Amino acid sequence: GDKRLEELNVEDTTCGYCAVGCRFDLYTDGEAVLAARPTDEEDAPVNGISTCVKGKFSYDFVNSDDRLTAPLVRDESGEFREATWDVALSRVAEGLGSIRDEHGGETLSVIASSKATNEDNYLMGKFARQVLGTNSVDNCNRLCHSSTVAGLAKTYGYGAASISTDDLELADCILLTGSNTTEAHPVLATRIKQNVRDGGDLIVFDPREIQIAEYATQYTQIKPGYDAVWINGITRYIINNDLYDEEFVQERTTGFEDVTETVQEFTSERVAEITGVRPEAIASAAETIAEANRCIFGWTLGLTEHSHGTENVMAMANLAAITGNLGTPGAGVSPFRGQNNVQGGGGDMGPLPDSFPGYQDIADDEVRAKFEDAWDCEISPEYGYYTTQMFLEADDDNVRGMYIIGENAALSEPGVNHAEEVLEDLDFLVVQDLFMTETAQYADVVLPACSFVEKTGTFTNTDRTVQKVNEVMEPKGKSRPDWQILQALANRMGREWDYDSAAEIMDEINSLTPLYGGVTHERVEAEGGLQWPCWDEDHPGTKRLYTEEFDTEDGMAHLHAVGYSEPAETPDDEYPFTLTTGRVLYQYHTGTMTHREEGIMQYNRSDFVEINPKTATEYGIENGDPVRIESRRGETTVPAQVTDRVGPENLFVPIHFAESAVNRLTDEDRLDPAASTPEFKVSAVRIAAVEDD
Ligand code: SF4
Repeated sequence: GDKRLEELNVEDTTCGYCAVGCRFDLYTDGEAVLAARPTDEEDAPVNGISTCVKGKFSYDFVNSDDRLTAPLVRDESGEFREATWDVALSRVAEGLGSIRDEHGGETLSVIASSKATNEDNYLMGKFARQVLGTNSVDNCNRLCHSSTVAGLAKTYGYGAASISTDDLELADCILLTGSNTTEAHPVLATRIKQNVRDGGDLIVFDPREIQIAEYATQYTQIKPGYDAVWINGITRYIINNDLYDEEFVQERTTGFEDVTETVQEFTSERVAEITGVRPEAIASAAETIAEANRCIFGWTLGLTEHSHGTENVMAMANLAAITGNLGTPGAGVSPFRGQNNVQGGGGDMGPLPDSFPGYQDIADDEVRAKFEDAWDCEISPEYGYYTTQMFLEADDDNVRGMYIIGENAALSEPGVNHAEEVLEDLDFLVVQDLFMTETAQYADVVLPACSFVEKTGTFTNTDRTVQKVNEVMEPKGKSRPDWQILQALANRMGREWDYDSAAEIMDEINSLTPLYGGVTHERVEAEGGLQWPCWDEDHPGTKRLYTEEFDTEDGMAHLHAVGYSEPAETPDDEYPFTLTTGRVLYQYHTGTMTHREEGIMQYNRSDFVEINPKTATEYGIENGDPVRIESRRGETTVPAQVTDRVGPENLFVPIHFAESAVNRLTDEDRLDPAASTPEFKVSAVRIAAVEDD
């Protein structure tokens, strides 16, 4: 009861699950988080008093018996033994240091963690470049929204949402695609549903008839892999019927003629032929968008996890621009980011092979000189490897050692049969995590990190709001915040880092990163969050991007014509179905946290494959029957969930379970040429019912 709550420790913090960025108070007795309750509303700009099931109940993992509480070092017989920090850090310094000295720093790779704080991630980038001497530092954004970042950066300048979350309730119309919003971003879904209740239009294009589709004023089922086709179809309709915003196009964009010309091939008939979308659906979506004064275009990985994800995003960016939906209240683009801090830690902080913090290009001599000076090291102007490339390059010994932080690559990479071989063959692997993950099993040394409730710092959410994360409980066992581990290691390897606090690290970040120029812990706390760009200490932060101009050299949005593209692997006689992977409400990524929640696991204990009733009947498969799914890369067996959520040619399997490891079926080789994002949303597969013995 609440009386007992009064006797507990309480601290406000920011959710460590998804990038909506809900804030709340956590109550602890020093050993476990016992309750989450709404915090003062002005301190919770995104969620007010609401949270989802994960934010409210998912804390058993923090005090789980499975937590790593001491460093582990592999001994001569190949077994892990507990070790002191001293011994473990020496072993890591030696393991990474000897590869660096013998083969060059560029043969080392770092995978940073978007679950960790901005301060942690800034140091991961600095550690890679300064201590190891490699630009091959990347993170999970490569597997999800890096095509969004590339596509939006090319068109508008910033690889981020242009809107504030509040705008979702101000729009007249929201177009959502490839976003299972109610399950992956529950609190955003609540706000979108509120908009619909208030009379707003909601248009959903998605291969699966997901729950948010029930609230839509128009739901259209699409074939996975052809997003640029139907988006261009809508753009063509709007242009050819003179429904576009001529003034905005004239004054604020370049490239309109090219786009107009290129979209002409996407007639309604052709779109219907390729995607199965009826001409009336294109016409009604186009008219609704054009009639709306304020429209928001929202998407997640259904648009981006393709071999042409960047083009999909640019097609969407064109549509938003020609309809003049940027820079005003209730209008804009909103890629809903996934992990709690993938916008900040995964992007803004620059643990990236091509950029320093604040998306400053490492190939730019002036920028590089600034960081070389600040970090007292030489930095190569050559881009390092993206995460997906690291695994491919390891085959040729271009990558020999890895430092993987808070990322379960052995389950999350595309084509994990290959990823497993790479992890097995590395000369040296250090994994830093809360748990003995599938990836940590391959490590030489495992370092115990602590969770977001045990440390202080900041996260940046999906609408660019930097928010405070507070230590609610002391680190479990000997686990430490990532930044402290990195500092100890840097000092072992010949550097002198002496940060006393995460706040001090933020002061270094803001001195080197114009976008975060005015961000300090003090202000973030006092002002209840700060949205970037925040140029200096007097700048109030930026609610909406592009109100006056775009972040390009001439200040204009640069529209890029996007032609026809198709998935790099399409179904054929041998592999007749399209497999799409995705998420469910109760789980989070590879389950390292949520699988340790008894309460959560009651709802969703295991895997499933969604299969259309027609297909199920054809193959003699009933609900719950095991189904074998095979691709050219591998196979897995999962129980059937017979449902008409998916079309007869499509299958859907969530990514959360090691038992099925659905990424055995996906492909490590099919990557977006601009962003290196894998094609998780389209794999050609075949299925068979599994006979009982
Ligand atoms: Fe946490 Fe996201 Fe749920 Fe909010 S919606 S409580 S940020 S998981």
